Amino acid sequence: MEQQIEIIFKWLDETTEIITKQEDVPYLDGLIAASELLFYRELPDDLEPTYEQQLQTKLSQINLSEYTGEMRRKGLQLAILKGMKGQTQQHHYITPDTVGMFIGYLVQRFVGTEKPYTLFDPACGTANLLFAVLNQQEVLKESIKLYGSEVDPTLIRLAYINANLQEKEVEFFHQDSLKPILLEPVDVVVSDLPVGYYPDDETAQGYELKAEQDHSYSHHLFIEQSIKYTKEGGYLFFVVPSMLFESDQKDQLQAYLKKHAHIVGLLQLPESMFKNETMRKSIFVLQKKGEATKDPKKVMLADLPSFKEAEAMQQVLQQLNQWFENER
Ligand code: SAM
Repeated sequence: MEQQIEIIFKWLDETTEIITKQEDVPYLDGLIAASELLFYRELPDDLEPTYEQQLQTKLSQINLSEYTGEMRRKGLQLAILKGMKGQTQQHHYITPDTVGMFIGYLVQRFVGTEKPYTLFDPACGTANLLFAVLNQQEVLKESIKLYGSEVDPTLIRLAYINANLQEKEVEFFHQDSLKPILLEPVDVVVSDLPVGYYPDDETAQGYELKAEQDHSYSHHLFIEQSIKYTKEGGYLFFVVPSMLFESDQKDQLQAYLKKHAHIVGLLQLPESMFKNETMRKSIFVLQKKGEATKDPKKVMLADLPSFKEAEAMQQVLQQLNQWFENER
């Protein structure tokens, strides 16, 4: 698999370099064009002859149907990471694979494999997390309906091409996700939340979690918005700062969650993934309250080891299995 991912990455990277040189555009824009070429295999009519020849040669070197969806996602992810390096703000970074795969595992355990469901990421960025979670599902993959919302125009275009390369239909919303979304409540939310202050105080006024003074925390508003767009009893999986309950607005957040959701789990991501302790993140699992729901007997708590430590990871998975057994 590694080799095939490398072939896709190299093809995208080389084609992107050709396009960026000729068109004088940033790498990520070139990558969008290269991925569209790979998917549609069509060149515009009016290209300069040597440029056209270069792109035709590239096209003759690859056949997308030889690669699985997961290989395509990972190949594209490598190219996106190259394009983002050094120029994208930290909070725009795409969600690392390991986190996506772990959330994918949790979704499968919590939501089960029997009934199709709807899955929404309100801060979908490049949709890398959305597809990492989808591709992790062993069954049902074809019947899971996907939705993503993102405000950044380049990232949402990357999300579109990601969906094309996955040959998967996704309904995307290019908008500020904290404004109303034309979406019926979904079964499952996954999201690596943007962290920081939300600048639009007027929109924030409509939220229970608005700050009394100054700007509100966008990650708090995202939690509220996500719960609003989730069906009763539905599950939500967020990547949040580990210090979520240590901020000046923690009481407000706790009271809000108590009213609307069950706190199901808090899993600290490995320290080695982050520059320092204050930037550390956790996976936060919630269930929206409904008539038939109740608090778990025990909140699922774990400190995840580095994903490279297979044995330690195995132990945590056993611990989690035990938790699921006890909750039955
Ligand atoms: N999971 C994504 C991926 O795999 O590419 C990365 C998510 S990134 C940590 C957070 C995203 O939230 C960024 O893409 C950012 O542009 C988006 N965002 C921030 N504020 C937003 C808003 N008000 N509405 C919609 N998207 C927003």
